[in-house]
Order: sequence, then structure tokens, then C-alpha cells
Amino acid sequence: MKTGHTTMRKLRSAVMKLPLMLTCREFEDFVLDYFEGTLPTKQHVIFDIHLMVCHDCRSYLAAYQRSVALSKAVFERLEDPVPGDVPEDLVEAIIAAKDERYRRT
Ligand SMILES: [Zn+2]
Repeated sequence: MKTGHTTMRKLRSAVMKLPLMLTCREFEDFVLDYFEGTLPTKQHVIFDIHLMVCHDCRSYLAAYQRSVALSKAVFERLEDPVPGDVPEDLVEAIIAAKDERYRRT
């Protein structure tokens, strides 16, 4: 396919025009918007690029995703008529995910 090459060239020239100096601190500020889908296109691209080049932020995002998924699981359980007991390993995983967040700030 010939279009692939053109797309890459266009993408590269677009990327060159962007200010790519996103710090890890700024990256964190974007995470919430990223998950809510409210990140503007330009910021989204910068965010994705930072994600590609920064190993720390990749693991941070993975931890964040895990804690969001775990929180949802807990809230779903709380809405049950009979909540029952939350598995201890789930609670520990949530606490661990939160610790990971606080260590970075
Ligand atoms: Zn980073």
C-alpha cells in the first residue's frame, strides 16, 4: 500500500511541529482526561508519544488502569444486595496501586 508511506510522512511532519517537551509530571496531569476521553487531540498525541518513549509512565499508566479496574470491581460488589466479603488480596492490590501513585508525587 502506497498510502502508508504518505501517512507516515504526514504524521512525522505533524509530530515535528508539536512541542514534545512533556514532563512526567505533566503526563500525570493528563491521565484523568485521557481515561475520560476529554484529552484534546494535540495533547493526546503528545501523551501517546511520551507513553512510547517513557518506560516509567508506561508502568504508571498500567498501575493506574489496574487500580481503576479494581475500584470498579469493588463498587460493583458494594452494589450487590448482600455485599459479602471483599477478598483480602483485592484490598491489598488496591492499597498497593495507591501506594504506587503516592510514591511518584
Ligand atoms: Zn514519563
